Amino acid sequence: MNKLSSFRRITVKIGSALLVDRKSGLKRDWLASLVDDVAVLTVQGTEVLVVSSGAIALGRTMLGLKSRALRLEESQAAAAVGQIALAGAWADALARHGLKSGQVLVTLGDTEERRRYLNVRATVGTLLKMQAVPVINENDTVATSEIRYGDNDRLAARVATMMGADLLVLLSDIDGLYTAPPAIDPNAEFIPFVERITPAIEAMAGAAASELSRGGMRTKLDAGKIATVAGTAMVITSGTRPNPLSAIDKGERATWFAASANPVRGYKTWIAGNLEPAGRVTVDAGAVRALLSGKSLLPAGVTLVSGNFSRGDTVAVLDPSGREIARGLAAYDAADAVRIAGLKTAEIEAVLGHEARSAMVHRDDMVMSAHAETASP
Ligand code: GLU
Repeated sequence: MNKLSSFRRITVKIGSALLVDRKSGLKRDWLASLVDDVAVLTVQGTEVLVVSSGAIALGRTMLGLKSRALRLEESQAAAAVGQIALAGAWADALARHGLKSGQVLVTLGDTEERRRYLNVRATVGTLLKMQAVPVINENDTVATSEIRYGDNDRLAARVATMMGADLLVLLSDIDGLYTAPPAIDPNAEFIPFVERITPAIEAMAGAAASELSRGGMRTKLDAGKIATVAGTAMVITSGTRPNPLSAIDKGERATWFAASANPVRGYKTWIAGNLEPAGRVTVDAGAVRALLSGKSLLPAGVTLVSGNFSRGDTVAVLDPSGREIARGLAAYDAADAVRIAGLKTAEIEAVLGHEARSAMVHRDDMVMSAHAETASP
């Protein structure tokens, strides 16, 4: 596989369990070894962005909160205590190599609303220009349960594609993807390379998550879909050893995910990575064929509309078997979409009382899923 220094811009996501020990707190030696690797890459001309988990885990250790489940407001308070220490530890470790750093805390709306997305992108881009390493996390102290990423795998993928990184590294307590979760299946086989994240690959993930982190293999594959569609390769490897980035170059076990050969760009990157579609439209077989050949989705091909979306919101487009094949911005509110589903363009005006926009989702506002070419029918 390629050396990490052959990539131009890398986003590295670090799981909580790597950085925080429940008893002793922050694992400073490990952090120092990781930052040694970051410094080497930086000298070689590779830009590095860090997405660091660990605020909640560190905060609860610092506050002496035992291992019981925390209430939301307790986690939020723990994050406030943990984040300040976490960011300080990153800043110190990077400063030892003469590197500057900048803390960026984001909430879901900062990447899901187009204007705020552009704003965050500009700020993080400026940090990189100033040669400061962005150290990014979810703003857990203000994020409420309904409106949050919840896991940093998908957040890291969103950040990586937003910033046009060509590689996303997920450092975790598992060394890669197996045919089944290895903790529950002793016959699980390791998979070194994934060309495309198909439903068969997704089925291998199971639902397992470790104690300290929210994301299991499932959120890592979700991250992989967001990344690879936008042209960002991904690698999952264990971060439990020191110098985990140089370990990848030394050939330690890791699963690589290829970036799409035809990545979406710019505006479509934002659509493709949208984390919470506001609704779903199911389409018939003819519409699936039309979409695969690059056409817009017409109301005539829509068989079912669900969700409460407004015009301009992201909707998932499902094939007749319920599998997502595309994502795009709805040209109609949900209520109108329901009324015109299945109708020919000429019939729509009579129903809506005004001239129709021809498409339910216009091709310019739509991105096909990575696996869509293999989709039925
Ligand atoms: N944002 C959370 C934290 O810093 C971590 C989320 C995750 O584990 O993925 O504590």
